[in-house]
Parts: sequence; C-alpha cells; structure tokens
Amino acid sequence: MTAGHIDEEMWAILRGEADRVTMIAAAAHLRRCEDCVQELISVLVAHAGLASAVRFAPDLVAVADPGPDSATR
Ligand SMILES: [Zn+2]
Repeated sequence: MTAGHIDEEMWAILRGEADRVTMIAAAAHLRRCEDCVQELISVLVAHAGLASAVRFAPDLVAVADPGPDSATR
C-alpha cells in the first residue's frame, strides 16, 4: 500500500489474485477512503474496457511477443 492507500493492490484484487487478508484490509480501507474509491472506479472501468476488447475485438488486441525462440517450437 502507498501511504496507507490500496492503489498497488487494486489490479490484483480485480483479477482475483489478492489473498483473503489483503481483500479484507482493502474493503475496510475503501469504506473510509474516498480517494481509493475514485481510483477503484477508474481501475474498474479500465479493466472492463480491456476485458471487453479481448472478448469482442480480439483481432484488435495486441498479442504479447512470445519471444525469439517461439518460431522453433
Ligand atoms: Zn485510500
């Protein structure tokens, strides 16, 4: 957490990668921190946009470079 905020944990939380302790601490923090609520809304909208792009326009989404050895596999 940065200065007590949860900005560093938000992506992990949205992807379901945060552990239970982190989730409970984040929920408690969100109930009292308007800054993090606003940040969470921004992260949520960005996450939804990316997920939507992958689902509905996969040909427009860049594929990660598999690396130089991928052609020989
Ligand atoms: Zn906060």
